[in-house]
Amino acid sequence: MEAKMVVKDFNLQFLEKQVLKNINIDFPDKKIIALIGPSGSGKSTLLRGLNRMHDLNPKAKIKGDVLLDGQSIYGSKVDPVEVRRKIGMVFQKPNPFPKSIYKNVAYGLTLGGGMEKSAIDAIVVDSIKDCALWDEVGDDLDKSALELSGGQQQRLCIARSIAVKPEVILMDEPCSALDPISTAKIESLMLKLREEYCIVIVTHNMQQAQRVADYTAFMYWGEVIEYAETKQLFENPQQELTRKYLDGNFG
Ligand code: ADP
Ligand code: MG
Repeated sequence: MEAKMVVKDFNLQFLEKQVLKNINIDFPDKKIIALIGPSGSGKSTLLRGLNRMHDLNPKAKIKGDVLLDGQSIYGSKVDPVEVRRKIGMVFQKPNPFPKSIYKNVAYGLTLGGGMEKSAIDAIVVDSIKDCALWDEVGDDLDKSALELSGGQQQRLCIARSIAVKPEVILMDEPCSALDPISTAKIESLMLKLREEYCIVIVTHNMQQAQRVADYTAFMYWGEVIEYAETKQLFENPQQELTRKYLDGNFG
């Protein structure tokens, strides 16, 4: 079975500084993969490389490739905007647009033009429902997204990213700005979305990785040190560095 995403000999430098060193990792479909490791180990940089978010940074130099369903996302004929539609990103700090709840979720659907309003409406409703937000905002879609709580804003951002029917969802510490109840809601949402999507999350919450991730990769200094089924990685790490990190000996 082919992986949904394949990262091949992926290297990234910011100017002279090598931040990712020959990363090779596969992400299977309909699974959650957690990236863990100390601060500065390159987790966010790798995640951003998975949907070409470094394109606009003239200091970033990339070698290697990322394949989605066997096709390079870095190919010269590939449109980075289309890449980011297929591979959505959710950030640490919820970043809704200063627009209504409806317009936030509809945003990606209205960009190209040409979609019927009724079709957009239906997708907006479905996406909000899929993100377990309907009971809280269904009556109030014209309200500004900025009036929502942090946890609601984050679920709205996830609704916005799934509205365009992506293939993969990337999440960079999506719960680290949220309280435990909102965190639990996002985690159960992730587990539900896993039925349809490949989800790659960065987390520094080891309990969270163990609660949601099927596979976990431990990164250190720009390298993937160990990648295994989550239970295996946490209970029986094969690398000395992984063991030390999980024992709290650094980072
Ligand atoms: P993590 O997410 O694991 O904490 P990052 O991927 O954010 O780590 O950072 C990895 C390294 O790359 C760090 O040394 C950081 O300072 C550096 N870095 C990240 N983004 C940039 C950037 N835009 N320009 C220069 N250096 C960066
Ligand atoms: Mg980070």
